[in-house]
Order: sequence, then C-alpha cells, then structure tokens
Amino acid sequence: MLAPAGAVEALRQRLAAVLARIDAACARAARDPATVRLLPVSKTVCEERLRAAYEAGFRMFGENKVQEAQRKWEAMADLPDLRWSIIGHLQTNKAKVIAEFADEFQALDSFRVAEALDRRLQALGRRMDVLVQVNTSGEESKFGLPPDEVEAFAKQLPAFSSLRVRGLMTLALHSDDADKVRPCFVRLRELRDLLRQSAPDGIAMDELSMGMSGDFELAIEEGSTIVRVGQAIFGTRVAGYVDPSVARREG
Ligand SMILES: *Cc1c(COP(=O)(O)O)cnc(C)c1O
Repeated sequence: MLAPAGAVEALRQRLAAVLARIDAACARAARDPATVRLLPVSKTVCEERLRAAYEAGFRMFGENKVQEAQRKWEAMADLPDLRWSIIGHLQTNKAKVIAEFADEFQALDSFRVAEALDRRLQALGRRMDVLVQVNTSGEESKFGLPPDEVEAFAKQLPAFSSLRVRGLMTLALHSDDADKVRPCFVRLRELRDLLRQSAPDGIAMDELSMGMSGDFELAIEEGSTIVRVGQAIFGTRVAGYVDPSVARREG
C-alpha cells in the first residue's frame, strides 16, 4: 500500500522545517546538530499517515500509550526497520507488552517496572534502551522520580542486564514563559552531569530527552540530546484529547 504522494511530500516538508529549527537552535548554542536526535511523536496519528511518514523517511516513532503503540506495531509489522519508542508512563502489568516490540522506553520511574521489563526481556532474549524519567517541575500531576531520588534509583539498575540505561528524560512545566520552562531543562542537565560521576558500571548517563513542539529550541540550548516532537510535524492534535503524560496519577 503506497501513501498518496501529496501526504508524503507534506510530511517531508514538515520534517525538513523542524530539522532546520533544530539546526538553528544548535547554531545559537554552538552545538553540532548531529548530537541532537529528533524523535517524531505519533500518538493519535492514524496508520495511513504513519505509512506516509515512513515513506518520507521516518524510521522511529514515539508513542505514550501502550495499547495504541501495540496496535500500530502490529498493523505495520510489514515495515521491518520501523522502530518504536515508548515515552509515556507504564504500569507494571504492561511491561510485558512493550518488551515484545519496543526498542526504547523513556519513562522508567520505578523498580517494579524495571524488574518486570527485565524479566520479560530476558525471556525473549531482547534488550531495550531506557531513560529514567525525572519530575523536574515538581508538579503533582507529572510522572517521574523527584530529582533527589534518581541517584539511588540508578544504583539499582545494573541488576537488570536487559536494560541499557542511556540517560534521563523530563517534561518541562507547560508554559509560554521561557523563564519558567528553562529551569526544568537546566535541572535535568545538572542532574545528568552529577550522576555521570556516580553512575555504576554499565549505566550510561549521556542522553537528555527534553523538549517538545512548544519548547524544543529552549531544550537544545540547555543541552538536550533527544527532542520528542509531535504536533510540529503531524499538526495540532484534536481538541479534547487528554495527554496522559499530564493526566492525573492513578492509584
Ligand atoms: C505528546 C508528547 C510529546 C510531544 O508533544 P508535542 O506537543 O506533540 O510535540 C513529547 N513527550 C511526551 C512524553 C508526550 O506525551
């Protein structure tokens, strides 16, 4: 099934526009653009448009809901080099689902999830890149470990040999005011720099996944190595869609 040429071309242009903004932010920060990875976030985007995105050159998508990601992975299993990154909170009982197909998990924030993921990955003979999610804004509604708990948490991770720990992830405060957003990014970078010195063997603390459509340029200025961008590529999400990453914590 080939996607309509117009849809592919439109996505190619949007991708190019976002990459140009990434390049410009890197230039301002005197950084090499090769040190920033763009992760296109495809939540709520339908399979047809994702196939067009694939034809436009996309090879990895970020999804924040397990069921939606699993459904899309199954539907697009004919694209063997398409990879999936799970960027949203995971309940322990869903770990076994993502172990089957995800290549990366960016929202690790509990021992139990690490344990469940590792057990299932061992059984499948798979490994997975993981990032530890940190709550840098202090908002009750956000997932992630408080910054001062991350060091002790990281020390437990070498026990899980299927998890390749790569670094940290955060969601900044949602605001148009750069003076409120920037400190979240600074906090994550400073934490990463600190943990680099104390990280146990086998635990890499290099990646900083921070920055979304509304704030990725600011995040790049503060050292982001992975920007997770949805709407700037795929268009504004439908009104009424509740972003689970900011939805209230359940039980
Ligand atoms: C939705 C989402 C994004 C992307 O947000 P956009 O505003 O579409 O760029 C990034 N990270 C997480 C965790 C998300 O849930």
